[in-house]
Amino acid sequence: MDYDDMLDKAQDEVPEDLGSGERFEMPEVDTRRDGSKTVFENFTEFVKAFNRDEKHLSKFVQNELGTAGHIDGGELVLNGEFRRGQITSRIESYADKYLYCSECGKPDTVLEKEKGVEIMKCQACGARNPV
Ligand SMILES: [Zn+2]
Repeated sequence: MDYDDMLDKAQDEVPEDLGSGERFEMPEVDTRRDGSKTVFENFTEFVKAFNRDEKHLSKFVQNELGTAGHIDGGELVLNGEFRRGQITSRIESYADKYLYCSECGKPDTVLEKEKGVEIMKCQACGARNPV
């Protein structure tokens, strides 16, 4: 193996974005009105960006908006009329509460249940805090 091959190999082994600690770019919320309902069109994008359970995220958004809803084909259908900004601010609260580590502020966290208590574990600094 020559030097260039070694460089290529080293680069292949660097995991993308993992543990970089950057606060990632939050996607923009897209919505559309459907009669008396509001459809949060790119809901799945946030589930993926946050790497969280879709039910966990949808329940939080519904509770915060004080409404009910359901997930339909990757979209979150909410009862009632909501502006995009209202949904965005709930998504931001979710990220503050369940995504960013309260110790180091990095988004490299996972949620775990321990004895019925939700624990946020940070893979960057090792902090463990109930949420
Ligand atoms: Zn941390």
